[in-house]
Amino acid sequence: MPTSLSHAASVKIGRRGMLGWLGAGTAMTLATACGAKPSAAANSAFPLRHTDAEWRKLLTAKQYYILREEGTERPFSSALLNEHRNGTFACAADGNPVFSSHDKFDSGTGWPSFTRHLAGAQITGGSTLFNGGHEVHCSRCGGHLGHVFDDGPAPTGKRFCIDGDALVFRPA
Ligand SMILES: [Zn+2]
Repeated sequence: MPTSLSHAASVKIGRRGMLGWLGAGTAMTLATACGAKPSAAANSAFPLRHTDAEWRKLLTAKQYYILREEGTERPFSSALLNEHRNGTFACAADGNPVFSSHDKFDSGTGWPSFTRHLAGAQITGGSTLFNGGHEVHCSRCGGHLGHVFDDGPAPTGKRFCIDGDALVFRPA
């Protein structure tokens, strides 16, 4: 295995399944596959604000780790991977609609994936990943949702690689 895992490698591992992932699994590959590099700052300009202490009370530990610390959940760990009903995926912090089931697809990476975002999500700033992924945040609370890459399927060519712990699903 290469020491740094490219996106292409992460997809291959995803298709090989969890055993392949575990065989390769180090904290570093986990962090680089979907992106967990903290970016300073992202949360100062969003309309819904809480202090850090308030966020810790409002969110579960897993939600806090993703949304406020820009963490990345373990691949294949989210129940939302297999959520195939029609509905809306909302920010777990404030219920802001961020993705639609109509844009969800199986990327094989182990993270819930979408070809586009709803108005409640936004792509922020520059790339924070060596492989070109840009951060995706909730436009209301600034919560970190995941990253977006330019290797997705038609019609957009985008792959939003999102942490299920940052989302709640509302069936239509
Ligand atoms: Zn939010």
